[in-house]
Amino acid sequence: MCHDLLNPAGIVKGFTEVLLNIEENEKKRDFLHKIKRNNTHIINIIENASNWSKLESMDKIKLEIKDLGSVILKTPDVFSSQLEDKQMTVHFAVSGQYMARINPIVEEVFSNLFSNAIKYSPKGSDIIFDVVDMHDFWKVTVVDSGEGIADEDKVYVFDRFKRVNKKGVKGAGLGLSIVKRIIELHGGQVGVEDNLQGRGSVFWVTLKKA
Ligand code: ADP
Repeated sequence: MCHDLLNPAGIVKGFTEVLLNIEENEKKRDFLHKIKRNNTHIINIIENASNWSKLESMDKIKLEIKDLGSVILKTPDVFSSQLEDKQMTVHFAVSGQYMARINPIVEEVFSNLFSNAIKYSPKGSDIIFDVVDMHDFWKVTVVDSGEGIADEDKVYVFDRFKRVNKKGVKGAGLGLSIVKRIIELHGGQVGVEDNLQGRGSVFWVTLKKA
């Protein structure tokens, strides 16, 4: 099913790129960019839905002892162009090693939280990653200075297809449910609180120490 949907979307992507390489008319280029953006959005939704259903059918994942700090530090690498567009800065309050029992899929947790922090924050704001020692667990926090989440929505944002405030931001409401599922498979917990140092949110996850 996923491949049946991804193949035509991939063909649209390819031909749109071919046309963008030859088209010079500004108005037509603008239309092509719109097709490309929306097609990318379709591809992301299909990939997320496919990831979700794979995770949903899993009841166990293999955990290895790895340094969580190095996984966190790598997170912004694939978002450099979005960070540049929004002139945002990332700060790491992370130093040393944080040995934990994790599966490489945990990278997806941090990329989802990080990409939301970019999407829902204003230009020029900061994102902070931190790791707090909670005895048996590490608590990883991703702090943004964005629009924040109302108290009544905090319990729902991790639910499937839940989108609180669309305001033109594209998404399918699957990112945080994927975060929750991956963390559940690791035996950890997830949550969101207000950023008490200013505006925005603090998303957190806990992972077992090694
Ligand atoms: P998506 O971003 O695709 O809509 P998510 O599951 O990642 O789906 O997020 C669910 C909803 O939670 C979003 O639609 C948004 O309303 C809210 N949200 C997520 N992250 C943030 C954030 N950092 N700041 C404010 N709102 C957020």
